[in-house]
Amino acid sequence: MAGPDVVIVGAGAAGIFAALAAAESGARVLLLEKTPRIGTKILISGNGKCNIAHDGPIEEVLKAFRPNEARFLRPSVYRMPNREILRIFTDRGLEVYTREDGRVFPTHQTARDVVQILRDRLDEAGVALCLDTPVKRILHDGGRVVGVETDEPTGRSSATRGSAGPAWGAKALLNEVLAERDSGGRPLGARTIDCSKVILAVGGSSYPNSGTTGDGYPWVLELGHGMVKIRGALAPIYLALEESPVEGHSGVAIRDALVKLRSGGREVQRVQRDLLITHQGLSGPAALFVSRVAAEEMERGDCRVEVDLLPSARPEQVQEDWIEAGRRNPHGRVANRLTELLPESLIEPFLRSAAIPTETLLGRLGKKERNRLVEALKGWNLGRIRAVPLEKGECVAGGVPLDEVDPRTMKSLRCEGLWICGELLDIAGPVGGYNLQAAFATGWAAGESAAG
Ligand SMILES: Cc1cc2nc3c(=O)[nH]c(=O)nc-3n(C[C@H](O)[C@H](O)[C@H](O)COP(=O)(O)OP(=O)(O)OC[C@H]3O[C@@H](n4cnc5c(N)ncnc54)[C@H](O)[C@@H]3O)c2cc1C
Repeated sequence: MAGPDVVIVGAGAAGIFAALAAAESGARVLLLEKTPRIGTKILISGNGKCNIAHDGPIEEVLKAFRPNEARFLRPSVYRMPNREILRIFTDRGLEVYTREDGRVFPTHQTARDVVQILRDRLDEAGVALCLDTPVKRILHDGGRVVGVETDEPTGRSSATRGSAGPAWGAKALLNEVLAERDSGGRPLGARTIDCSKVILAVGGSSYPNSGTTGDGYPWVLELGHGMVKIRGALAPIYLALEESPVEGHSGVAIRDALVKLRSGGREVQRVQRDLLITHQGLSGPAALFVSRVAAEEMERGDCRVEVDLLPSARPEQVQEDWIEAGRRNPHGRVANRLTELLPESLIEPFLRSAAIPTETLLGRLGKKERNRLVEALKGWNLGRIRAVPLEKGECVAGGVPLDEVDPRTMKSLRCEGLWICGELLDIAGPVGGYNLQAAFATGWAAGESAAG
């Protein structure tokens, strides 16, 4: 019986698209997945709703990435653009809608339906899928890949099917790969699968419970690649709480805040979105957005989060406004006026930051106090960042350096017979469907190329 033409390691977004592209190009494809299911991160994406892609012209989509990432992604994203990605699903009855901000979601269905469509397509394409089959090593000889070694069993194999594709005996191959299993479907031990073409699609190392535990990192290093340091991205931010005014206020949100990152006193990033206070620090759209830069900057030294509560007003205007308020309503409390800007429970800590007594009346606000108030309104220091937890990020930044991979094909420029795609690459887009899109597109490019 013929062995596989291509072995793909990891059945996430990138691995599944790689498998579809390779199988539809006529290759015999073996897809090995560590966990008992495919597309685990797709299932949890967008809170189970799955933000599949980002709509709009490709050049606009690429602008969301860092310039070097956009340059790298351009060929594969043009080859498998957002509309084509969506067609893979809509052809099978998935209805999608685009939110005002460009994010595309299934209309009625959930991430489960998205994954089921992919599962059906893998079967129809004749991909031999082995679940519960962790790969342990990538075998190589003289700078070229020669196969993979699977690990000892991790658990029960819940599904190891694969329809017989028209061109080859996927079932027969599965039987061979899975031959040594007990009656419950558990593989009986490590085994070697020979193959001269291997696509690595094992993702990063965030959400390790989903199966992504950074297995690919030591492999690519052994295969001659470098590694851009792995850091958290799209993650919550942990603050040094002992010096933070928001300590003890978890669950409170600051709406539409202008959040600024200050590193060594210099502003390095800003974004205007909702900010959520947690028991460890900050989360919500604004924190996730700045987390990648925060993770980089905190390594350089003091990096802080600051909030501008009146982003559309200049400091002089704010001054005038408070003077006028004091004239109009001298017996009103400063604290009451702040309820327009802050949730009630944050007013006291805010005033403490500005060294203004809580009971202060508008008419009694002295010049120095007013200056401190305006300063705090335009840049409330929420504290020093102490960590950006890698494991809690929606993706990781860092990975295989982009100049070590051919952007048209995802072929490794360091090792013959190796393709690398998805989050294992040094790419981390913002929230908005960008990361799945990048995984789909790079996976597709890898699959087409490896099949050719
Ligand atoms: C909570 C959460 C929400 C998200 N929401 C969105 C969203 O709405 N939109 C969006 O665009 N992005 C979202 N993302 C990011 C997106 O899910 C990932 O960027 C994308 O899934 C990466 O795809 P990938 O195929 O490269 O890796 P993964 O999807 O992580 O897939 C890698 C696969 O490889 C398997 N694997 C690992 N090691 C081995 C091994 N040794 N042997 C065999 N298999 C192995 C893993 O089990 C996994 O199935 C979200 C991420 C998270 C965590």
